[in-house]
Amino acid sequence: MALRRQCLPHAGLALHLCLRGIHLKPPHVGLKTYNCVVLQQRTIQSITRAVGVGLHSGQRVEITLRPAQPDTGIVFRRVDLPQPVDIPVNATSVTDTRLASTLSQGGAKVHTVEHLMSACAGLAVDNLYVDITAEEVPILDGSAASFVFLLQSAGIVTQNAPRKFVRLTQPVEVREGTGVHEKWARLEPYHGYKLSFEIDFHHPAVDATGQRVVFDMSEHTYARDIARARTFGFTKDVEMMRANGLALGGGLDNAIVMDDYKVLNAGGLRYDDEFVKHKILDAMGDLYILGKPLLASYSAFRSGHGLNNKLLRALIDQPQCWEEVSFENEKLAPKGFAKLAPAW
Ligand SMILES: [Zn+2]
Repeated sequence: MALRRQCLPHAGLALHLCLRGIHLKPPHVGLKTYNCVVLQQRTIQSITRAVGVGLHSGQRVEITLRPAQPDTGIVFRRVDLPQPVDIPVNATSVTDTRLASTLSQGGAKVHTVEHLMSACAGLAVDNLYVDITAEEVPILDGSAASFVFLLQSAGIVTQNAPRKFVRLTQPVEVREGTGVHEKWARLEPYHGYKLSFEIDFHHPAVDATGQRVVFDMSEHTYARDIARARTFGFTKDVEMMRANGLALGGGLDNAIVMDDYKVLNAGGLRYDDEFVKHKILDAMGDLYILGKPLLASYSAFRSGHGLNNKLLRALIDQPQCWEEVSFENEKLAPKGFAKLAPAW
């Protein structure tokens, strides 16, 4: 993807300005230091592993998270194939969005990447290798909490390179359907990262909870407020999916399951509005597939993996609506960004 770059230096003056290949560099360029926690790129400190089952395949799978150099991004590596295949994370490598987000490289695939991607987005992890021994990321407890635990246990460290954000300068929107089938997702300029999601499920267990939630990275804490929200499903859908060879690894241990009237999990919900919070969790994972963190306000009505990916592709197709920025002066960064997600 061709990116425009504008670095925001001290005193708000443009230090570098690269527009369509023209690099303008004023003569007073000095040494750059990046000492701000979330304004530098981050990776993990040590290798960490987890074993689980794929939600849809039911297959045992092991993932190994490894540190990666600055500007590597997040790379899935299928280590079970005769020749290991790297599957880079970007919007155009998404090849299937039914039920989960699938990335492909040649014939190699990795399904259900969104919860791990969400944890990376929420903790501001930029660079990571994910070695995986099967076609699907383990579902673990159905939320991003286990991935948060793994990443934090490995230790999150800053790297000597600035984080590069994609900052919206004009709105980008995608829509599907009309009337009761209408759904949409939108990105708008915002000095920070905010997500607002509304669901429209008519079910006794969902009606009793919030249908809309707003999460602002500057004000809320991902690990506490979003990461624990689990995926959810209905028993009748699960039966149908299993008949089609899906949801084979799903159950009360890794999803909120409802019959026609109520939540069947003995422990109930983790948040009062866990359903819509999970949609925020998914959206954060889906949007992080862009490969860079967003500075934008995302809002969505009944969106899902497919529409989220369509939004990313619309964004890439409209380079006049965004620019790439990094910050050398934390005072110019969005409020709270220097304090997000402690690295330890
Ligand atoms: Zn999900």
